[in-house]
Amino acid sequence: MSQAITETLYTQWGQTFTVDRVLFEHQTAHQHLVIFENQQWGTVMVLDGVVQTTERDEFIYHEMMTHVPLLSHPKPQKVLIVGGGDGGILREVLKHPGIETVTQVEIDQAVIDMCRQHLPNHSQGAFADPRVKVVIGDGVDFVAECTEQFDVIISDSTDPIGPGESLFTSRFYQGVAKCLTEDGIFVAQNGVSFMQLDEVTTTHRRLTPHFQDVTFYSAAVPTYVGGIMTFAWAAHNPALRQAELDPQRLHTLTTRYHNAGIHRAAFALPQYILDQLEVDS
Ligand code: SAM
Repeated sequence: MSQAITETLYTQWGQTFTVDRVLFEHQTAHQHLVIFENQQWGTVMVLDGVVQTTERDEFIYHEMMTHVPLLSHPKPQKVLIVGGGDGGILREVLKHPGIETVTQVEIDQAVIDMCRQHLPNHSQGAFADPRVKVVIGDGVDFVAECTEQFDVIISDSTDPIGPGESLFTSRFYQGVAKCLTEDGIFVAQNGVSFMQLDEVTTTHRRLTPHFQDVTFYSAAVPTYVGGIMTFAWAAHNPALRQAELDPQRLHTLTTRYHNAGIHRAAFALPQYILDQLEVDS
């Protein structure tokens, strides 16, 4: 392993990390997985050349992908996580009172195993919680075959290259729509909009036939380079997104990024996104 890793998400431009120590590197059955130490960002995980998570800034992404849908739902009890092998989403979901079960469908057991070992602060023991059921498989097949319904579904996938591609398809979104209760909410990582605007418009076009309320929200995640990170939002009930946040539920959460103001402001989108969604609709 060289003493530096340059992200390969974009061919003409990318961020480079110095590699202080490699903790794990392996070509799994699904993707190339490397976990290494970097003085600036702590322990970093990269899958197929794309930065997935770093110890230093993971809280921003995991809080926004979890607390925005869960606090918007009147009473979240059953949650489905697709992907999320590092355990950060699972850790945040379990902070919410009233959660009865969390099902996590992750395609690559090695990611869970290596993150539990080398990024223990991500899951913080969450995988051992008796309410958690881990299923190793492709999320698109799980939702297609699943007969259960969930209050919140969170797709914490890689980018739409390699195994993650199936989680950006109409087939996946159709399965998600079937597996959500009537007050159910779906959110998904949807890339850095300035660099991957086509991902936003494609997701919008593919979600719209299955949900009444489809939009995006955002957060600035330093190591998802190129500007704001967008999250897809889809719900059958359009009222949920405008619902007043319960101060008591907000108060029970210890956060470092999410708060009521950020929650509301996150849904304000730059004009270039709104214009493109307009053109595309
Ligand atoms: N926060 C990261 C991001 O925004 O790019 C994602 C982190 S998480 C590590 C991504 C996870 O999605 C990985 O563990 C990967 O194995 C999993 N994954 C990719 N494709 C999948 C699929 N089709 N079904 C289930 N899990 C999948």
